[in-house]
This record gives sequence, structure tokens and C-alpha cells, in this order.
Amino acid sequence: MLILGIESSCDETGVALYDSQRGLLAHALHSQIDMHVAYGGVVPELASRDHIQRVLPLTTEVLTQASVTLNDVDAIACTTGPGLAGALLVGTACAHAIGFALNKPVIPVHHLEGHLLSPLLSANPPAFPFIALLVSGGHTQLMRVDDVGQYTLLGETLDDAAGEAFDKTAKVLGLSYPGGPAVSQLAEQGDPERFKFGRPMLHSGDLDFSFAGLKTAVLTQAKKLQATHPLTEQEKADIARAFVESAVDVLSKKCLTALKDNHMNRLVVAGGVGANSQLRERLNELAQKHKFHVHYPELHLCTDNGAMIALAGCLSATRDKSLLNQHDSFTVKPRWSLHSTS
Ligand code: ATP
Ligand code: MG
Ligand code: FE
Repeated sequence: MLILGIESSCDETGVALYDSQRGLLAHALHSQIDMHVAYGGVVPELASRDHIQRVLPLTTEVLTQASVTLNDVDAIACTTGPGLAGALLVGTACAHAIGFALNKPVIPVHHLEGHLLSPLLSANPPAFPFIALLVSGGHTQLMRVDDVGQYTLLGETLDDAAGEAFDKTAKVLGLSYPGGPAVSQLAEQGDPERFKFGRPMLHSGDLDFSFAGLKTAVLTQAKKLQATHPLTEQEKADIARAFVESAVDVLSKKCLTALKDNHMNRLVVAGGVGANSQLRERLNELAQKHKFHVHYPELHLCTDNGAMIALAGCLSATRDKSLLNQHDSFTVKPRWSLHSTS
């Protein structure tokens, strides 16, 4: 089964071709980061307009890369939620237009399902069941994954997502959007002993998270120093280090608890923050010490992309053939929890 996948939930247009026998044949991506950087965050209307301009050229690009035509495609998978309504509508409308014109089915895909299945595209794919830590710009969740389509939410952030906390910390430190990679890089030069921030929810007795307080700790520390002088590069690095230490500590310890509570020895880490080197380092250490396996998507597939959507669409349709029935109408779901789809 050859699937064309389309992702347009936020600020990346991603298109890919995934074949159930041959794997990922092609993928192409356009990131809008440069367009939104002047605003310090994603401007929804600009995002939608840009997706309109990108989606068809990217589709042509992957078809050329894989030397196939739209007629060879068996179904089109597209992200129908959660995300920005206008942005989701562009990819979904395009998928349905192609489907209608060529009489091909359209498979709706949950964006987070794409993220959490993305490590299956790596050279060392995890077997089911596993625990998944989804750490992205909009979500921080621990999920029990028993199979494709069988997702149980174990815990989630009560306020900000981890990626959001990275981005806000970057803003306070004067780094450009999206700040995750920049904060991570700066933290490498920081002194871990200079500032100590709390470990929110570490002893909450559940698998929930909170990152809003950590963001405030960053802001308070920065303001305290700024009362007498502009932040030096070393001070910025020390604050970044304290922030990263705290975030990584809470995320990794709750992963360990989730594994132990569920008697599992496989962890999958997905979403943009899953690209973070300090988090990976800590989880790899814990994995050695506590004898579990940790799986990540390939680095370039951590953030949004079409490959994970094509894959999720293919696996869902393989499991539930009714998804391949034609649908005349479509909808998008800007707010949509993954565990309720199981
Ligand atoms: P969602 O998937 O929840 O809808 P999203 O699609 O915007 O949100 P992703 O594209 O998965 O999120 O990830 C983007 C986030 O990942 C941003 O907040 C970004 O700062 C963060 N990020 C990316 N690379 C790193 C890194 N190396 N370290 C920390 N954070 C990172
Ligand atoms: Mg993004
Ligand atoms: Fe995402």
C-alpha cells in the first residue's frame, strides 16, 4: 500500500510517500520558522497562507523523488488535528481534493499519533508495547502504547508544554524563536551549580507535569540580575543550564516511574524536545542503569514532518480497513485528545 502523507498542523508543511513494503520512499519539508521569527511565534493566518503555497510543489517534489505518479498512490493520509484550524484545513482540503479527483480514500491522522509512531521509521524500531514520552511545542504527555491505535494517557502537563517552556526561556534570554535548540546549546556552556531551580511535580505521586513555574523561575532570576546590569553571556548560559537541568530531571524521572509502574522496558521519546541532547544523554544513562531500551525518531523526524503522517496513516489503515472507504465530507479537529481515539 502506497500512502501520500500531508502534514500542515502548525508551521511546517510536510509531504511524504510511505510504502507498506518498501518503507519511506520520499519526504519533503518546508519550515516557516524564518517567516514567523519576526513575530516571536507562529502567526496563524500567515501559516495557513504559506501552507497553501507549499503543499502542491512539495507533493510534486516527493512524487519526482520516488519516481511515482499520483495514480500509483493508494490513499492519502493527512493531519486533521490537533493544531491550528486554518493550517489543518489547508492540508486536509488538499488531501480531499486529490482524493476526490482520483477516487482515492483519505485517512485522517492524529498529529500526536504521527509523532509517537515516528521512531518506527528509524533503523532500530521499537516493538509494541512501549511507554511514549511526547514532548513537543504544544504537548507533554506520557502514554502507554499497546499497539497502533491503542493509546492510554498516563499523565500530561497541567499548564505549559515542555517545548513552550524552552521557547519562553529563550525569549527571556534574548534568543530567537523557536528557542529549544538555542537554549540547549547555551546550557552546555553554563555552570550547573550557579543557579538551582525547583523540580515541579517531581513528588506529585502521579505522572503529570507542570512547566509554568519553571518559566517564572527563569524570568525571576533574569530580572534579579537585570536590576543591576544587562545579562552577561555567562549568566544567560547559567540560567539556561539551570532550566535544562530541572526540565530534564523531571521528564526523565517520570519516564522511569511510568516504565516501572507499567512493568515495561521500552521507552519511545517523540516530539521536538525529543531532539534535545541533554534529555537524550540523561535517558541513555538511566536506560543503562535501569535496563530499559530507549528509542528516538531520527533527528530530522523529531519535529513536524510528513513522513510520520504517511506512516501513521498506513499503519492505521492496515489495522482498520474501513478507513479506506471513501468519505465525501471532511472536518478538522483543532482540539483532539489521542487517547479518546482508541
Ligand atoms: P505539537 O506537536 O504539540 O502540536 P509542535 O508540532 O509545534 O507541537 P514540534 O514540532 O514537535 O512541536 O516541536 C517543536 C518544539 O520543539 C519547539 O518548542 C522547539 O523549541 C522544541 N525543540 C526543538 N529542538 C529542540 C532541542 N534540541 N531542545 C529542546 N527543544 C527543542
Ligand atoms: Mg513546528
Ligand atoms: Fe508536532
